[in-house]
Amino acid sequence: MPPTTFCVFDSAIGRCAIAWNAKGIVRLQLPEASDALTCARLLRQLPDATQGDAPTSMHSAIERIAALLGGEHDDLADLALDLEGVPPFHRRVYEFVRSIGPGHTITYGEVAARLGEPGAARAVGQALGENPFAPVVPCHRVLAAGGRSGGFSAAGGVTTKLRMLENERARIGSVPGLFDEPHSQDASRTRAALPNGSTGADDEKAFGPIDESMMRLALEQARCAQQAGEVPVGAVVVRDGEVLGVGFNRPIDAHDPSAHAEIAAIRAASARLGNYRLVGCDLYVTLEPCAMCAGAIQHARIARVVYGARDPKTGACGSVVNLFAEPRLNHHTRVQGGVMSEACGALLSSFFAERRRR
Ligand SMILES: [Zn+2]
Repeated sequence: MPPTTFCVFDSAIGRCAIAWNAKGIVRLQLPEASDALTCARLLRQLPDATQGDAPTSMHSAIERIAALLGGEHDDLADLALDLEGVPPFHRRVYEFVRSIGPGHTITYGEVAARLGEPGAARAVGQALGENPFAPVVPCHRVLAAGGRSGGFSAAGGVTTKLRMLENERARIGSVPGLFDEPHSQDASRTRAALPNGSTGADDEKAFGPIDESMMRLALEQARCAQQAGEVPVGAVVVRDGEVLGVGFNRPIDAHDPSAHAEIAAIRAASARLGNYRLVGCDLYVTLEPCAMCAGAIQHARIARVVYGARDPKTGACGSVVNLFAEPRLNHHTRVQGGVMSEACGALLSSFFAERRRR
């Protein structure tokens, strides 16, 4: 094996480490709590690497990686990687994931399908969990079912991924001419389709990129419900970009009429924090909460509810009643509706269409 050298460099998300040899980049390490820990993590996989100054040939690679982490629009597709020792399936996954541009996201399942191996979502998750080249192989743009397939299991990992995504998308959103990209169009469509006056002035605020990322996680949860034959609704509780709890709808399986996605996510987050009050937390849910969940959300002191599709049958955020607009009940929770409402609604429609066919 050619000798491997590494160094530490600054970036917008903290100090990273990079190792290289004559063939290219061997490994990147995203920031740990200190330089010592970052280097220790890198050296665990490369015990023979020595610390040294980057040669001129590596300077621009390091600069570009740091720029990407700061939000520059650069896919880094031309940076050479040393793939020796990387298993063939992993290579295919990394190669495909490198084609996902900054600001875009995809799920593990979609990557598997694009590789012609639907059903290999778990293997994709595993390959990306072992990705030694983040962010050159941008595994942060591949989102997983919350806590289920490994990619989002570590809290710090989630925060780092979302910071990277937020940096990328915030920057891309501010570049004129790029509003035609699919995710921007979706966002403007859903904003335009918001229910008139149902949830008050908060609807007027634009959704941030983090809102979309979190709603994607909630959608992954909804798919878990779908797979279990339950009405596909999913929820995620988040504070400062950290996912504290996830849940999906499962009243049939649990023999529990209260087993809605929101209740499950609130229970998980409360257990995680050791507190029945979720002050400062946001709850993302794919469907407008019902009266029961609206009550739980208020008792939990959730700061903000973001929902996807409206529920004209039982929605308690304005569709049937608006329990959040009742000043005698609630002083805490803001409500925003319509984030990715089409995707959230489509999942429900296809579920009910399928059920009617049976
Ligand atoms: Zn509910």
